[in-house]
Amino acid sequence: MATTHTAASRSNGSRAARHPADLVETGNLLRTQADAFAATQSKQDAAKAERHDVVVIGAGQAGLSVGYHLKRRGVDHVILEGAARVGDVWRNRWDSLRLFTPAKFDSLDGYRFPAGRDVFPTKDQMADYLENYARKFDLPVRLNARVTSLRKAGGRYRVETAEGAYEADQVVVAAASYQAPRLPAFAGGLDRRVFQMHSHEYRNPAQLPDGPVLLVGAGNSGAEIAVDLAATHEVILSGRDVGQIPFDIAGFLGRKLLVRMVIRGMFHHVLTMRTPMGRKFRSKMHGHGMPLIRTKPAQLKRAGVRRVGKITGIRDGKAVADNGAEVSFSSVIWCTGYHPGFDWIDLPVLDAHGDPRHRFGKATDVDGLYFAGLHFQYAVSSTMVAGVGRDARRVASWVASASKG
Ligand SMILES: Cc1cc2nc3c(=O)[nH]c(=O)nc-3n(C[C@H](O)[C@H](O)[C@H](O)COP(=O)(O)OP(=O)(O)OC[C@H]3O[C@@H](n4cnc5c(N)ncnc54)[C@H](O)[C@@H]3O)c2cc1C
Repeated sequence: MATTHTAASRSNGSRAARHPADLVETGNLLRTQADAFAATQSKQDAAKAERHDVVVIGAGQAGLSVGYHLKRRGVDHVILEGAARVGDVWRNRWDSLRLFTPAKFDSLDGYRFPAGRDVFPTKDQMADYLENYARKFDLPVRLNARVTSLRKAGGRYRVETAEGAYEADQVVVAAASYQAPRLPAFAGGLDRRVFQMHSHEYRNPAQLPDGPVLLVGAGNSGAEIAVDLAATHEVILSGRDVGQIPFDIAGFLGRKLLVRMVIRGMFHHVLTMRTPMGRKFRSKMHGHGMPLIRTKPAQLKRAGVRRVGKITGIRDGKAVADNGAEVSFSSVIWCTGYHPGFDWIDLPVLDAHGDPRHRFGKATDVDGLYFAGLHFQYAVSSTMVAGVGRDARRVASWVASASKG
């Protein structure tokens, strides 16, 4: 697995270094990197920062939901968004993507998704809905404000972006658990001349050269991209069987009854941190994908997608599956999921996997820090449009109580 350095490893790496090779020139003085770092840090701290009671980081569905509930409670806040437009995360997903949740499960609190209840919206409709949501409730979103560091300074939180610094008593990180691509360790063994991309970069088949495409990872993204590519390319889908939802979500029964049972019933009320079944499901899901929701194995077969086992390595330019079979390919798409990507959080709140230690979104190791939109933050639905509002409400109510107290 490609590693993203945790805040802890980053600080150990740069600040504790005392080797002569680490000497750097600052002005006309030679100092160690650690001293130079400390000097820069205190200069940054002295630099003017915009002050708010609360900073929310990320204006996806999670950050906007938190903003909505903070605004209703009259809590002063600002929402910092790294992208140029609200909804860009959805706009940048592949062209043919439609949500697997029908519009009746795609509304955030306070504003109904503007489409027929059983329609599966396109990714661009979802992006526009989020943009309109921010506009409708006049949420205080700052665009192009990617946060590069979050730490404590002088008893408050200090949030740095390229465009300026912010200070707050409380911070909500609403940047989901899915910000950095996760690659298997053997990805490094692939010849650099072979065309490869991560699923988050995939838009359409025209991006890929002719010849067989190996998709590594057979979860929802892998399966949907496989179908998308199958008309123009020979597709080999590798990875373990993640299971499937045993009905057609677009069929009559699916739309009218079964989707509700799964999304509202199972994902929102049954599989939660408060039920033994939910906790068991969560530990099983860690690092693994959800069962296939829309794509069925029979559909993959009909589309001509070839299934191979889990790829365990690369040998002589060929991928080697767990049954020893060798697979030739011209290009690779890594559908291997995401790393939380929280290396900019300079606080002792992340575990060895880079995931925050928290209870239902409240950091367990520092006061005044919260999360929203995390993988299984409270329930399976925590990362879904239909479920994020409940977590956001809970977080906003903690924040509001602490603001008053
Ligand atoms: C392919 C795909 C299809 C999906 N389909 C569905 C579906 O049909 N139905 C459903 O309910 N769910 C679906 N989901 C799950 C979920 O709804 C989405 O992943 C959704 O985008 C999560 O929203 P979020 O706000 O938690 O995170 P994100 O959408 O990732 O938003 C986080 C925001 O934070 C910003 N950000 C990140 N880091 C920083 C930083 N350092 N500084 C400032 N800003 C930052 C990002 O730019 C982004 O705007 C799907 C997910 C994927 C990957």
